[in-house]
Amino acid sequence: MRYESPKTTREAVTLLSKEKGEAFVLAGGTDLLVRLRMDMIDPDLMIDIKRIPAMNEIKKTATGFKIGAAVSGRQLGASKALVKAWPGVVEATNLIGSDQIQGRCTMVGNLCNASPAADSVPAMIAAGAKAVVVGKAKRRTVAVENIVTGPGQTSLAKGEIIEAITLPKRPAKSGDAYLRFIPRTEMDIAVVGVAVSLTCKRGVIDRARVSLGAVAPTPLLVKQAAAAIIGTKLDKEALENLAAACSAACNPIDDKRGTVEYRVRVAGVLAKRAANIAFERAGGKK
Ligand SMILES: Cc1cc2nc3c(=O)[nH]c(=O)nc-3n(C[C@H](O)[C@H](O)[C@H](O)COP(=O)(O)OP(=O)(O)OC[C@H]3O[C@@H](n4cnc5c(N)ncnc54)[C@H](O)[C@@H]3O)c2cc1C
Repeated sequence: MRYESPKTTREAVTLLSKEKGEAFVLAGGTDLLVRLRMDMIDPDLMIDIKRIPAMNEIKKTATGFKIGAAVSGRQLGASKALVKAWPGVVEATNLIGSDQIQGRCTMVGNLCNASPAADSVPAMIAAGAKAVVVGKAKRRTVAVENIVTGPGQTSLAKGEIIEAITLPKRPAKSGDAYLRFIPRTEMDIAVVGVAVSLTCKRGVIDRARVSLGAVAPTPLLVKQAAAAIIGTKLDKEALENLAAACSAACNPIDDKRGTVEYRVRVAGVLAKRAANIAFERAGGKK
């Protein structure tokens, strides 16, 4: 196996697209190195992106934030501007693993590993995040909800790398939140994850996005759930409609962490709690 650590995205993309054998992008390695050690993969080439300066930055731009693909969970949590603007995205990413994992893990690795239960992905989807995808011939911007196509599967073509994630500029009176349910207190995989992002105008919810994790083969953007709370002050009826829309969108598996029935129910309960937190963060008053 060859190991390369290019200094630019262009160099990384060239290495990736030229490789005839099996090549992997290595970000934090907290998924990839586990799979390597368990002999689940047998790469010919590993392309470490951590030495690419552009991928290590969190930049405030005219349109929001640009977060490099190699930025760790720890770096994200240390960015005061990001925590203030997108607390839900940061709290979701900071739930991944332990202190040791936080020092290495990335949002983009979490996204490209394509687990249905990935914690940062629903938060990114609710936030309207986009992935900056760079290939040999072109660069494109893809909504995060269009990256994961199934468990372990993404829409990235051979030779494509995600260079960064962009988060839009936050309008005033906005808030987001992510909650997950796990059977243990930490270091476990979500049974259900729910992210809500919303903006209030003249006291009522004007815009909202709701995303669910761990309840279907891919993280879901649930438009009916957002519609249930738009135009409301998040009163009891709106919360019940939100919960019903979230539960109806679930198509989960049955496993040792939770039955189908349990996951469907918990999705509704968590959605109400996450929406209340997002509403409070947006300065909403009931
Ligand atoms: C002990 C432990 C606890 C964990 N707990 C959680 C948890 O609570 N919640 C959770 O969601 N996950 C958890 N994970 C899984 C893992 O830590 C996360 O998915 C993490 O975010 C992966 O990021 P990474 O940078 O380490 O990815 P890597 O392992 O480097 O890469 C993961 C995949 O993404 C691809 N990839 C990485 N970067 C790019 C890129 N820029 N462009 C294209 N493809 C790319 C890689 O080729 C690989 O296929 C845990 C893992 C461990 C070992």
